[in-house]
Amino acid sequence: FVVVSGSGEAEERLRKLAERRICSCDDPGSEGTDLQYVDIQIAIVEIQARHTSTDKILQDALLTFPHIEENAAHPIVFFDERMEKSLQREDKIMKVLRDVIGGKDEISFYLEYQPKLDLNKSRIIGFEALARLRIDQLGQIPPDEFIALAEKKLLINELGNHILQLAADFLGRMQGQGIEDITVAVNISGIQLLREGFVEYLQRAPYLSGRILQAMEFEITESVLLEHYEQINETLEQIKRMGIAVSLDDFGTGFSSLSTIGELHIDTVKIDRFFISRISRLPDQDLITSDIISMAHKIGLLVVAEGVEDERQEAYLRKHGCDIIQGYLISRPLAEQDAVAFLRDYNDSEREQ
Ligand code: C2E
Ligand code: MG
Ligand code: MG
Repeated sequence: FVVVSGSGEAEERLRKLAERRICSCDDPGSEGTDLQYVDIQIAIVEIQARHTSTDKILQDALLTFPHIEENAAHPIVFFDERMEKSLQREDKIMKVLRDVIGGKDEISFYLEYQPKLDLNKSRIIGFEALARLRIDQLGQIPPDEFIALAEKKLLINELGNHILQLAADFLGRMQGQGIEDITVAVNISGIQLLREGFVEYLQRAPYLSGRILQAMEFEITESVLLEHYEQINETLEQIKRMGIAVSLDDFGTGFSSLSTIGELHIDTVKIDRFFISRISRLPDQDLITSDIISMAHKIGLLVVAEGVEDERQEAYLRKHGCDIIQGYLISRPLAEQDAVAFLRDYNDSEREQ
């Protein structure tokens, strides 16, 4: 239904009007024998000069509905120009991502690689691949934003496959240059893991040869395990059987206890940055991080610390037996050429020492 109100109504009065409409529907109609409940949501749009047709007004109303807050007392929302801006931004990002997947745009989307340092060997043993998106009018888009959007718009499976291929190609180029024993970790969305046919896709993908699979690692976040533990664990078992290592990302932020992790088909836990950043603030009392390390070791897992930014953190992690560290202290995520140069410099200079 559309209700048109006279000009210049104050926001508060409009809200009251809307609330009354909603309340008048709280009582299910008692006509006949079946009670009919009606759910109402109200979007309020101020008609302005740019609304040159009813369609334009309705369009604004439609893009306002998704902004209704889930737990609001009344499902009422006012149109705001920022909503239109954010929709335009989403549309633009989605268009570029579709072009990227369709092979029409090879520039906007790329991967950066952040080195991982093995504390025992004092060598760079691999990289984490991190997705990057740069759009002319919008600048750099944070991965948290475009990955979440791709998940929402059901584009993550195709985008995820594209990312896998870019990472595999990078591994192939390194192996072609004689760089062996270096792993590349790819972040995998929970939606990809839950998709039927994901493992079959991996088995058939022409770019995933045996040598590539052996050097590849998947990072999965803890939060996806919450609802689909059994199903995901089965998929992880199949993935590991293919030779891909599996790492539990952002560990400590989700629900899992070390006991459930004992049954998970993973090789590594990555302790979330939150725990690492605590170390410099509470260096001596910080038992949690050292406990996580020793308990993970007891169940046979490797431990990576992410977000290591200063030497104090490194010293603490070294002292408590953490296996691998990653973070700005070692290096920021790098473009491919810089990543390879960094790897060569670091490992060669270690050999000389
Ligand atoms: P993540 O997998 O936990 O990646 C680590 C994030 O921490 C990255 O942020 C990295 O740039 C940042 N980081 C690394 N070292 C430090 C440090 O020392 N200090 C601080 N403050 N930050 C550090 P980024 O690149 O913005 O990625 C954010 C998240 O987006 C990732 O978290 C991951 O969940 C997701 N993501 C990134 N690339 C992909 C991808 O290809 N696929 C999927 N599904 N998700 C991705
Ligand atoms: Mg990760
Ligand atoms: Mg992480």
